[in-house]
Amino acid sequence: MVWKEERWYKRRVHLGRQKEAFDAEMYAMSEAVKIADEICSEKGVRRVTIFMDSQATLRRIQLDEPGPGQILALRTMNWESELIDKNIQVEYWWVPAHKGVEGNKEVDLQAMKAAYKHCGSYTETQNPLKHLNYVSFAHINRRMTEVKWEESKNKIKEMGKKSKHSYRYDLVMKGSNGVTMTSQKSIAARFYQLKTGHAIIASYLRRIGKGDMKCWWCGHEYQTRDHLFKWCKGWKREQKRLWVDGQKGEHGYEGIEKVLKKPKISLPMSLVFAEEKCSQALLDFLSVTDVGRISGVAEEAENSDHEESSDGGV
Ligand SMILES: [Zn+2]
Repeated sequence: MVWKEERWYKRRVHLGRQKEAFDAEMYAMSEAVKIADEICSEKGVRRVTIFMDSQATLRRIQLDEPGPGQILALRTMNWESELIDKNIQVEYWWVPAHKGVEGNKEVDLQAMKAAYKHCGSYTETQNPLKHLNYVSFAHINRRMTEVKWEESKNKIKEMGKKSKHSYRYDLVMKGSNGVTMTSQKSIAARFYQLKTGHAIIASYLRRIGKGDMKCWWCGHEYQTRDHLFKWCKGWKREQKRLWVDGQKGEHGYEGIEKVLKKPKISLPMSLVFAEEKCSQALLDFLSVTDVGRISGVAEEAENSDHEESSDGGV
């Protein structure tokens, strides 16, 4: 999306299958720099500002190392050096996602249209480009996580056969998360769903095109994982126990802020979920809240198509 001569100029591309949101963001970035090069050459512009809501992308375009997004990082660098050769200055600005930035709604709409392209129901979108015909590293990473998630589900099922209500099964020997595996089945399932970003929360439903982002417990504008575990007014007491107080007793645990020696505001949930020392506290939080629990509406969404679209945020 580019604001030019009193209107929005749009370009959308279907990236083909086997890509992730990160690839879309990286592609959008490289495309933005390319478009800047096209426009500047014809208009004699001296300075370009690119807005992006993905910090991962802003970090990635500074490195040409192998790994997820490498091809697109190089593509961005190439177009940037074209601009620099012409003595045009390029600046990258980070903007928070969906924070009332004009054009963001339109970007979402365009992304949706591009994602529909593969169904053959929309014809204005460009076809996947030849040079994008590869399986992305980010996609492989996600598929591997999904395989692990499948394995976990099977383990949980296996435990379910042993006893109806408690699942004490020694998986520590097998290198799994022992704490999780001794918890109740449904809580463990929610734990893994939240860990992998597939839990039933508003931001997930929004991502797969069902409903808005509003928190159904406190009405806050965005119900994200961060919101639910740290800030949601619906779970204040439980949050205090999770982050500060902890739980005394035989199966007790320390509050996460104490365990990780940082205030919750500077602890991303991805990190907290990755840290095994926090599992007990997180599981306890899930056992006393309905966070990530499947409801009627959510179940329907869960069973529907998982095709993802990403707006690329530019
Ligand atoms: Zn809330």
